Amino acid sequence: IMNFLRRRLSDSSFMSNLPNGYMTDLQRPDPSAPPPPTVPASSPGPQERRPSQLAQQPQQAQSSSSSGGSSGFFSSFSSITNVVKQTAASAAGFVEQSAPSPSLSKKFKILLVIDEPQLSKYLLGSCAEFSEVNLVAHSNGTCNVDMQVIRGGTKVVRSFRPDFVLVRQHAFSMAQNEDFRNLIIGLQYAGVPSVNTLDSIYNLCDKPWAFSQLINNQKRLGSDKFPLINQTFYPNYRDMITTPSFPVVVKIGHAHSGMGKVKVDNVSDFQDIASVVAITQTYCTTEPFVDAKYDIRVQKIGADYKAYMRTSISGNWKSNIGSAMLEQVAMTDKYKLWVDTCSEIFGGLDICAVKAICGKDGNDYITEVVGSSMQLIGDHQAEDRQLISEVVLAKMNQALTTRSSSASRSPARSPQGQKPTTVQPQQVTELYTNRSSGQRPQPQGCLNTSHNQSTAAVGWKQA
Ligand code: ATP
Repeated sequence: IMNFLRRRLSDSSFMSNLPNGYMTDLQRPDPSAPPPPTVPASSPGPQERRPSQLAQQPQQAQSSSSSGGSSGFFSSFSSITNVVKQTAASAAGFVEQSAPSPSLSKKFKILLVIDEPQLSKYLLGSCAEFSEVNLVAHSNGTCNVDMQVIRGGTKVVRSFRPDFVLVRQHAFSMAQNEDFRNLIIGLQYAGVPSVNTLDSIYNLCDKPWAFSQLINNQKRLGSDKFPLINQTFYPNYRDMITTPSFPVVVKIGHAHSGMGKVKVDNVSDFQDIASVVAITQTYCTTEPFVDAKYDIRVQKIGADYKAYMRTSISGNWKSNIGSAMLEQVAMTDKYKLWVDTCSEIFGGLDICAVKAICGKDGNDYITEVVGSSMQLIGDHQAEDRQLISEVVLAKMNQALTTRSSSASRSPARSPQGQKPTTVQPQQVTELYTNRSSGQRPQPQGCLNTSHNQSTAAVGWKQA
């Protein structure tokens, strides 16, 4: 995503289309701006932030760190923030900045991207994980984010106020003992808009809670159209007295990548697993073991749909463990209905996927919905990243327009006490439709399954 935004910035026609004096105007102090916010002494001062230079030579930009290190600040920081120009009178563009700046705050918007390290190859430099983020949220709508990260052996502190967040990392996983819901609460507390919404991210932090939404949809649509797997929920091990019919899959707590999922063939093994659940202090679910032909994943990013099937090669009943064949398949009406239905839960998911299993009995079994933290898979990941960036831009524009109009209705509640910036959503759309580096990819409807095959070593990832 950042590569795409960066390419856009280095596009000379785009730069030359900017209004006269735009870049120089950005460096001029804004007389109406409030006093500078407190930032670490090591943070670069306003004179060091030269957006036009950063835009064209991001790797050569100036650097700073809390320990006085002098390299990699901007290139690292650029992986987690990009600053979207949102002025009333001009076309939109992207530049990068390192820290909150009173003179720029009105004209630039900071996007915080929370991403997993293994996805950092898609972003220039390093990327921010939840574990690197600290924040303080205020009821007046400000959210100060501090990050302490090690970059090139140097401890770097960054401070900024995000205007928007893209969350691509799981906010909660019992397996890694990772719980970042406090950060989701903080961002929500400050009202920072996000893709997916913070509401939905929080709600997706308990799989059975999300599954309950799917149950409602099955009731509404019928199991013909929405074939949800039969599932039983046990709030804790003490409830695991009634035994299901075997074999079953026991799914313990909220975890990813196949963790905490056990296939159980008989009562005594089920009792053994119940004793394991006892020491986990959490809930579990059981569902019939489906003798699978293949797994299905249908994803939706904005208005783009893609469907994949994954077939285990190594014979593990979990096709996300060991090697598997990944194949893109036609986007049928059936799949579209599934994912459209899932995309409506928790107030709407802009980025989501529905997972299902196609059994050897010929039936489909929907097992789960995942949100914006879903892994990108298959041969179109570059396109998917671009689609995500487009969703983010559209939502950012929408959020800022809403914020601007509500602020103008009640100016006293504007967090900075500043006149709100007017945003014109069309302008950001232009950014993509006019770019010279390629046309906006068409949403893929039906895709031929004969090509697009690839092998996934583990999970849905391509080898
Ligand atoms: P990921 O993080 O990769 O999405 P996960 O931790 O959410 O994985 P699941 O997708 O629920 O775990 O299960 C892992 C794999 O186990 C599935 O991809 C599927 O191959 C298999 N599986 C899950 N549930 C069942 C079931 N009821 N019957 C048969 N196989 C199943």
